[in-house]
Amino acid sequence: MNKIVIIGAGFGGLNLALGLAKAFKNDHNVSITLADKNDYHFFSPNLHKAAAADEELVSIKQLKQSVALPLKEILTGKSITFVKGELSYVDQARKRVTIGRSELEYDYLVLALGQEPEYYGIPGAEQHGLPLSSLPDALRIRNQLEFLMQTFRLQARKNNLRIAIAGQNANAAELALEFGKNLEFISWKNRVPRSSVELEIVCPNNCLAGDLDKASDPALRQRLKDLGVKASLDRTIAKVEKHFLDTLAGEKIYFDLLVWLSGSRAKTVKSQKTLAVGGQGRIAVNGLLQAQGEDNIFVIGGGMRAGDQKQLVECSPWEALNQAKYLTYALPVLLKNRRPKEYCPGREIAAVDLGGRQAIYQYGQKYAEGFFAYLRRQCLFFRYFADLIGFWKAAKFIFFESEIFSRGK
Ligand SMILES: Cc1cc2nc3c(=O)[nH]c(=O)nc-3n(C[C@H](O)[C@H](O)[C@H](O)COP(=O)(O)OP(=O)(O)OC[C@H]3O[C@@H](n4cnc5c(N)ncnc54)[C@H](O)[C@@H]3O)c2cc1C
Repeated sequence: MNKIVIIGAGFGGLNLALGLAKAFKNDHNVSITLADKNDYHFFSPNLHKAAAADEELVSIKQLKQSVALPLKEILTGKSITFVKGELSYVDQARKRVTIGRSELEYDYLVLALGQEPEYYGIPGAEQHGLPLSSLPDALRIRNQLEFLMQTFRLQARKNNLRIAIAGQNANAAELALEFGKNLEFISWKNRVPRSSVELEIVCPNNCLAGDLDKASDPALRQRLKDLGVKASLDRTIAKVEKHFLDTLAGEKIYFDLLVWLSGSRAKTVKSQKTLAVGGQGRIAVNGLLQAQGEDNIFVIGGGMRAGDQKQLVECSPWEALNQAKYLTYALPVLLKNRRPKEYCPGREIAAVDLGGRQAIYQYGQKYAEGFFAYLRRQCLFFRYFADLIGFWKAAKFIFFESEIFSRGK
């Protein structure tokens, strides 16, 4: 019996498990185990919507549905064993992983753990900034804003309520825009004048595009302006205090709520034999996506580092899917003691929500923005969900239920 253990049921891990279950459908000599600390598949591209939605607009149930698909629904009827638990240790010598309180034996191990927020050692950043990388994070941000609005009204404060978002990437812009879109309603509901609430994105360089095509910068700036979000560019954060961001240039930026979206790094994996890591803590892999020096440990998604410094493979949900597809092909070949072709990154895809029915869509060198890009984004998400939960359920969810988020400007 060949035991394949996949840790992480995100974009990479879940789709690999599903692919392998199909590939080994009639092979009883292979077992597939999928483990995750949560019992749902986490859909991060909708997380900013969950964090900025008001409870009167979108119920908790709708929020959960949009970012957390129950794994039971996806895995029923598939020959995959699911184990809920957190990975704490990889023992290469004994070929075992510790998940929660139990141990799992493996012949082939795939790490698909994704990423966590990066604070770059900036004093106070972790203590005072709220991260946004999980469903509980999104709910915490939403509750905190509600609480701040209510206390602001009761205190009859003179200075404005200020929300700051630290980040130089599409995720930070998406959250700022979603807040901008919903703030009118949220302040009206809490009987706080909209003009008393300030929203600011604090970015260390002069371009909001981050990893996106530079052409997206004017569109992002315009949309932020339209939705009443101030863009503070060229502000490198040196220190975070309870209510202040201190910049390198000596400026102090006041905030009531700070969301930290300024970077991410790979989840740390504790192991008996240290795994070689590169920048952002990502585990270095070879052309077969094997961790360096390890024949039977593979790494996919945001936790791995492939390519050289010049051509580093960017992490995105769609690239994690591409890597899952690659291992679906490569693992059966390796099991037959043959050498598979090497992994080749797919075309870069970026689908950035600009709030309402506006988006930026990038596919390789092609770039689109506006309503057409929004449609492309919806179709991309639809295709993804349809593969997981079936055509009709996906259509109902994408084109009807989650449409609630797109209302407004
Ligand atoms: C707020 C936010 C918004 C984003 N929005 C976008 C976007 O709009 N577009 C885009 O292209 N990219 C976006 N990304 C990036 C995107 O989420 C990643 O590129 C993608 O999810 C990587 O897939 P993955 O399979 O590596 O990891 P993930 O999909 O993150 O899956 C990792 C899985 O591992 C599990 N896990 C982690 N640690 C453990 C452990 N110790 N034990 C057990 N299980 C564990 C997690 O529960 C999770 O299910 C966003 C990321 C964040 C944080």
